[in-house]
Amino acid sequence: MNLILFGPPAAGKGTQAKRLVEARKMVQLSTGDMLRAAIASGSALGRRVSGIMERGELVSDEIVIALIEERLPEAEAAGGAIFDGFPRTLAQAQALDAMLAQRGSRIDLVIRLKVDDQALMDRIAGRYAESGRPDDNPESFKVRLGAYNDQTAPLLPYYGDQKKLVEVDGMGSVEAVAQAIDKALDAPRR
Ligand code: AMP
Repeated sequence: MNLILFGPPAAGKGTQAKRLVEARKMVQLSTGDMLRAAIASGSALGRRVSGIMERGELVSDEIVIALIEERLPEAEAAGGAIFDGFPRTLAQAQALDAMLAQRGSRIDLVIRLKVDDQALMDRIAGRYAESGRPDDNPESFKVRLGAYNDQTAPLLPYYGDQKKLVEVDGMGSVEAVAQAIDKALDAPRR
């Protein structure tokens, strides 16, 4: 079972992915977490991406596709991956489909967390003080939201056409969203 948690920044993808890791023993593949780990380690990759991330822009497709490819065997061994924050462009989505097909696998479900822009701005205002994430500042957050709307939201028809897309109201409590995700995961699929 391979799942994409899809949605704008601060929609709750990471929180829900972590819960699913606990509950279903799946592996969370968060390109944002991988990139932050690269920055923390002081690697060449980290130095290359830190400015881009701080501004809230997307790093190159090549970089994130390679990060994901490296982790696919581990996810496969666990019985499935939760893709969190990946794919974010059409090129990434197509590369993911190709990488999975090569391994005799595929994306089974895409769950879109729907949260309106104003609610996201409110959430992030609260989170910035605690998270310490430089890209949670209001300027960078606006850029991240813009990147989502311009480059990532256009993926919705890509997955809609494949009949893999399920929409979940992301405005409720963490528990309510979790319940809606469980329902989508446990519904019979073709
Ligand atoms: P996230 O933790 O998913 O919000 O990602 C934080 C930042 O990492 C993003 O604003 C981008 O700069 C970068 N990033 C994470 N995932 C991707 C991706 N799939 N494609 C491009 N950039 C990404």
